[in-house]
Amino acid sequence: MQNWNHLLQFDQKHIWHPYAKMPSTPPPIGVKKTNGSQITLSDNRQLIDGMSSWWACIHGYNHPVIQQAMHDQIDTMSHIMFGGLTHQPAIELAQRLVKLTPKGLESVFFSDSGSVAMEVAIKIAFQYWISLAQPQKTQLLTVRNGYHGDTFATMAICDPDNGMHNLFTPSLSKHFFSPPPQMGFDIKSDDKDIMALETLLAQHHQTIAAITIEPIVQGAGGMRFYRPDYLKQLSKLCQDYNVLFIADEIATGFGRTGKLFACEWANISPDILCLGKALTGGNLSLAATLTTQTISQAISQGTPGLLMHGPTFMANPLACATANASIDLLLNSSWKENIERIETHLQHTLLPLNEIPGIKEARVLGAIGVIELERNDLGETIQTIAVKNGIWLRPFGQLVYTMPAYNISNEQLKQLTTGMTKSITTALKESMNKPLN
Ligand SMILES: *Cc1c(COP(=O)(O)O)cnc(C)c1O
Repeated sequence: MQNWNHLLQFDQKHIWHPYAKMPSTPPPIGVKKTNGSQITLSDNRQLIDGMSSWWACIHGYNHPVIQQAMHDQIDTMSHIMFGGLTHQPAIELAQRLVKLTPKGLESVFFSDSGSVAMEVAIKIAFQYWISLAQPQKTQLLTVRNGYHGDTFATMAICDPDNGMHNLFTPSLSKHFFSPPPQMGFDIKSDDKDIMALETLLAQHHQTIAAITIEPIVQGAGGMRFYRPDYLKQLSKLCQDYNVLFIADEIATGFGRTGKLFACEWANISPDILCLGKALTGGNLSLAATLTTQTISQAISQGTPGLLMHGPTFMANPLACATANASIDLLLNSSWKENIERIETHLQHTLLPLNEIPGIKEARVLGAIGVIELERNDLGETIQTIAVKNGIWLRPFGQLVYTMPAYNISNEQLKQLTTGMTKSITTALKESMNKPLN
């Protein structure tokens, strides 16, 4: 193998990273291998992983059960086109998803990434109304602080201020934005937020095809937690005003919030559900869009009668087999106890940071810990200090957050939160140029 300096130099000069400039600064850090919640860097330093590679690697890296399933599937069939053909891994995955997801979601569309799963959800919603001779329903209603992906249809429903709207406005479809749900999972609310949403619906429901929202946790648009009751009322409003309800559980799906799916907190079933990220336990890129049979039948009985989407790598057998192994592993584990164990630890270690000046709010839900800072310019510094402290974090804006693998050991979890606290307080101290108490 070429030496690491050489590889990293090439990387800097030729490879784009997520939301980065070229050459990227600071330069990306080389990773040699992974195992469980451990990341081994090119210079052999060890980091404890606090990110699960963006919500995905819920069982940690290189889990032997998943790896065995992947090896077995490679030996049998890595890929086959899905047009006109089908296979056991896809069928068995669809069976699992139909069984596990909220009631009524029975038609499954497989795609390659979360953004595409959302694109498909939006296309399905539009095509549903076209099929029912209501082609004027071409708009979406969503809430501020949302994140649904980086592609064009999804960008248009990401938060208009902290998303990419300013940059791409002329190319984006215009949709309706309601204020975000009030912050707080277990608050008593005056319902002003849901009333604002109803006002928009009452005015515009004739042209609205669907409402999109991330249930309970708004992820990349602000790492905000909100109350189940909001979701329940939103679901009811969708029925009252005859618009579809698209739930984006790409981040929350598969246990992260303490329920298998965050919709369960409100005991609701959306019309359309998107899954991704943890679907394969973070081992391969795979996503799914589930709908009710009412929707799939309406589309199939309309004109042209076909759902107009079909990616080349649709339902890749290797990815589906990996997802099956990951789901079985999750269900056979004591994942709920693990989420509670992590939640309790995060509460004990991160919530006290609420007392520290410079920290706007520390909040915890399920296996998600968020520290929101007052200022938004410390992310890079905190990441650098975190690596020095032996942990991997990827802050953005004013948000420093962790969502570790469910099976992270208590010892690693302790190192993670200690390192996180230390990195944040050190960065704040440096930035204020005065000691904190
Ligand atoms: C990550 C994410 C997406 C986009 O998924 P990609 O796989 O990155 O395309 C969409 N919605 C939510 C809620 C997400 O967290």
